[in-house]
Amino acid sequence: MCPHVDDIPLDKSNAVAIETDSPHIPMPNGNSNVETSSSSKDASTLPPAAKPVHQQQKKNAYGPRYSDFLSNTSNWSIIESTLREGEQFANAFFNLETKMKIAKALDDFGVEYIELTSPAASPESFEDCKAICNMGLKKAKILTHIRCHMDDARLAVETGVDGVDVVIGTSSFLREHSHGKDMTWITKQAIEVIEFVKSKGIEIRFSSEDSFRSELVDLLSIYRTVDKVGLNRVGVADTVGCADPRQVYDLVRTLRGVVSCDIECHFHNDTGCAIANAYAALEAGATHIDTSVLGIGERNGITPLGGLIARMMVADPEYVKSKYNLPMLREIENLVAEAVEISVPFNNYITGFCAFTHKAGIHAKAILANPATYEILKPEDFGMSRYVSIGHRLTGWNAVKSRAEQLKLEMTDEQVKDATAKIKELADTRTQSMDDVDRILRIYHTAVTSGQMKVGEQEVLQELLDKHMPQDK
Ligand SMILES: [Zn+2]
Repeated sequence: MCPHVDDIPLDKSNAVAIETDSPHIPMPNGNSNVETSSSSKDASTLPPAAKPVHQQQKKNAYGPRYSDFLSNTSNWSIIESTLREGEQFANAFFNLETKMKIAKALDDFGVEYIELTSPAASPESFEDCKAICNMGLKKAKILTHIRCHMDDARLAVETGVDGVDVVIGTSSFLREHSHGKDMTWITKQAIEVIEFVKSKGIEIRFSSEDSFRSELVDLLSIYRTVDKVGLNRVGVADTVGCADPRQVYDLVRTLRGVVSCDIECHFHNDTGCAIANAYAALEAGATHIDTSVLGIGERNGITPLGGLIARMMVADPEYVKSKYNLPMLREIENLVAEAVEISVPFNNYITGFCAFTHKAGIHAKAILANPATYEILKPEDFGMSRYVSIGHRLTGWNAVKSRAEQLKLEMTDEQVKDATAKIKELADTRTQSMDDVDRILRIYHTAVTSGQMKVGEQEVLQELLDKHMPQDK
């Protein structure tokens, strides 16, 4: 078993969980998530110019712009492909039990679709596909991903899936070096498969592969043709991870003008653009985004579920919160990380161990006053905690004061500043653990309240610490 977030030996011993009820900044689409405090109720009836500055910030700088009439950043669905794309991850080997656990967790989280490996891949894949279709999931529809071939399509419909995702390579690379077929053959094949799947009364998506290295004329021509035949979605896939957000925006926007069906997008992360590309696609009118848990997939994978959620929370938090059980994200990531024997990265979106840890003194002060100062996401939305690390040389007295209050030590600001100076001095030699900081504060508090010591008497304090603190060997 590999360690995951819960098991990483994180030294949170010098960090303190900070609860604040300070208001967050107004969020996307003007949907302020500021809970009206009693002191601000009266101001709510005032004209905008008469309101306090923080209440005038109704417009969200991160939300869709008015010019983005195509934007679907508040209207999109997830096609979760951990059990298809994720199976192509180097470390992945999912048995049926694990697949079912992951499918159940994703359904509980609230994804709209779960995509499974082609039943044509192996007899086991066929049986697993059937078994997952029979699980009776609450919300998620089950899709399977197949080659654009009648044999695969027949097998797919036999499994009981809710829909079939068909893919075929359209780039010159794939046409020459993979299947060797021309566009006329591809179009004819696509229509036959689409008509067959539709006749079974289930959903059908047609996608090109390596779309960004395909001829635009070829792409638009085949998408227009299949759209006329009638299908649920067409798919755009950046199979090699070469596309950037501007290219994605241009292609999807052009495609939006050509087809009337939904548009699904699949982005590989070889050059670090998978989340940004997904967002650009939604801005340009795409409707469905492929994800996998922790982004696992072929090579270095695709748009990660958690990363997409983080990005979309900024665009429209209420929409995201209404659709998904966000506190489950960490559990799902741990489940998958364990199954494929990897760790959740330290800097993972939302759930990485330092995602909500603040260290610098001036940051800590601002975070304590209002977390939105240095946080665009609220940890509590995801069942996570905010930490302010205080036992280090960059610490500030505001963070130390907050800890003293948690310890119920009544101290003046002057006393806290004095104690902070000592903590910083000690932390210059080595980072102090939370226990160390607590002990220093208790010793300091006892000494000043009993009259043993006055503020500024650092030598007396040092003597007391020498006497009462455990010494380094
Ligand atoms: Zn892929």
